[in-house]
Amino acid sequence: MDKLQLERAAALTAARYDHPPLAFVHSFGCQQNVSDGEHLKGLLAEMGFGFTDSAENADLVLFNTCAVRESAEDRVFGNVGALKNIKRERPELMIALCGCMMQRPEVAERIKKSFPYVDIVFGTGAMHRLPEFLIRRLEGGKRVFWDQPAKNVIEGIPAVREEGVKAWLPIMQGCNNFCTYCIVPYVRGREVSRAPERIEQEARELVGRGYREITLLGQNVNSYGRGLAKPYNFPELLRRLDRVEGEYRLRFMTSHPKDCTRELIDVIAQSRHVCRHIHLPVQSGSDRVVQAMNRHYHIDGYLELIAYAREKMPDVTFSSDIIVGFPGETREEFLETLALIKKVRYNALFTFIYSRRAGTPAAEMPDPVPAGEKSEWFRELLEVQQGICCELNEAMVGSVQRVLFDSPGKSGEGFLAGRTEGNVIVEAPGDRSLIGRFLPVKITRAMNWAMVGTILESR
Ligand code: SF4
Repeated sequence: MDKLQLERAAALTAARYDHPPLAFVHSFGCQQNVSDGEHLKGLLAEMGFGFTDSAENADLVLFNTCAVRESAEDRVFGNVGALKNIKRERPELMIALCGCMMQRPEVAERIKKSFPYVDIVFGTGAMHRLPEFLIRRLEGGKRVFWDQPAKNVIEGIPAVREEGVKAWLPIMQGCNNFCTYCIVPYVRGREVSRAPERIEQEARELVGRGYREITLLGQNVNSYGRGLAKPYNFPELLRRLDRVEGEYRLRFMTSHPKDCTRELIDVIAQSRHVCRHIHLPVQSGSDRVVQAMNRHYHIDGYLELIAYAREKMPDVTFSSDIIVGFPGETREEFLETLALIKKVRYNALFTFIYSRRAGTPAAEMPDPVPAGEKSEWFRELLEVQQGICCELNEAMVGSVQRVLFDSPGKSGEGFLAGRTEGNVIVEAPGDRSLIGRFLPVKITRAMNWAMVGTILESR
């Protein structure tokens, strides 16, 4: 980072306000965005900002936006609209918008025309330029609009992470896959991987600072390393990180079945720290629909991978994303998805009714199934999955699980919440001082959304 620029931005900010300035940073959307938000906060902290959790108290409001769904975009426009009165009362308030949505030219154009009180707009590749944009605006320049995409990963951006047990660790940016329903490759650009040495260094720091669960982030972590000067792949990266000493867990998301290999499964099976839980989004159980989504795998191959993982790690758990009602999907094809779900028996599913995203190929495909019918399919799918979850949870009653407690629980006063290695939520009575500890828990009861148990030892 450019130190002089940070200092200049800090000086200009200090001169503008007669009190220590406060920023309100809000990230919409996925974990990648949450992680970006932590780095944006890191930059603001270097420029002298403290943080507040309301726009009313802030001297700078920064919305880190998400473009994945149209409804998410509408929410952002609503939130920006709500700032108008605050800016009228306090014209010195700075308003900045960034993230995926701002990478879309039509959105930037709308902000330019309809929201004249917004000061700074920049896309996903320009996070590190925030100090420069602030300087330009604070020195009395025009409103700043920047939409150049990222070409490489910028290292050394500081982060303000949530204190606690879990940390996000981005390993790459962008996506090369162009699934036909997804806007991400258009707004986040092509894949670029961080150097393994930098990732390892950051992982060591996080473990040293007491984080107990580190989640490696990328749109498709399985293709990590392509394009690096020295070829490196994701299983190698996991092996390298697994050698970091300490008491911690590693998770990763998101995987793409077309790039998920037996080598990766072998590494997970042999590792000390990588959780035996794989989020492997299949999206549909129909080969035809999967091809229409441009996903490049076949259901048979997917099932073989699952079988191989279960052979190597009988306790491995799986979760997936499912889209119901992709354009042109028939009832028979939907039934193939139901059959797949019954076969795999996922511990968790993230289910969505297809929602049209302008600018993607799927948005142009004929979509004859009425919304009401799709909702009915969706309800069926939830019912099937709920039944599977209940059975899987019931089967855990009586077992002892190693749980990492990370927060106060929801099932009663004095309860703690945590997760098993397989990513199942467990609640148990316990003192808050146990948050951040890995403890053996005897499972005594299954609920819809979590298991309840008793901590066996906490010394
Ligand atoms: S892999 Fe597909 S769904 Fe995931 S971000 Fe890339 S294009 Fe989107």
